[in-house]
Amino acid sequence: MEKVFIPHLFRHERHTLKIPVDGMVLDLETLTPVRGQITVQHQGTFLNVSAAADAIITLVCHRCLQQYNHRLELDAQEVIWLDEAADDTYDGPIELRVDFNDLVESLHPEGHFDAETWLYEQLCLSLPHRQLCSEDCPGLPIPDSQPAVAEETKAIDSRWGSLKSLLEQSE
Ligand SMILES: [Zn+2]
Repeated sequence: MEKVFIPHLFRHERHTLKIPVDGMVLDLETLTPVRGQITVQHQGTFLNVSAAADAIITLVCHRCLQQYNHRLELDAQEVIWLDEAADDTYDGPIELRVDFNDLVESLHPEGHFDAETWLYEQLCLSLPHRQLCSEDCPGLPIPDSQPAVAEETKAIDSRWGSLKSLLEQSE
């Protein structure tokens, strides 16, 4: 997925670029390709970015530790401000450029919008916090009494048995 050169958005009808998505997104391991669409609209002082996408992803149940498949459905929308002060040379995740006093994402108006990284972040955010294979997941199975223990118990029982017969003989 190519990065979007922000000024080029003006070339599109209603300054809106629609990016079809059908494939893997960065290193997010999904069972099926991520399918959907990202819409980037230039609103002059900000970008209005939205995405609708879905994929099947394999998760591990927090309760029974079994793997299960989860349908990830993304419906995200975000405003990214265009700010001359934003550093366009920064090439990492968008989140990291946000300082604590200004929790609004911004990009340089002559910079690039990295649609794939943005989509990746949105998909990660949409992962369920509570991962359960089913609402009534019974949790980890309780192990059966181990044969070794059972054998030992039997051995003790037979010793008690011989002690008992000894006592019976002495009567
Ligand atoms: Zn489970």
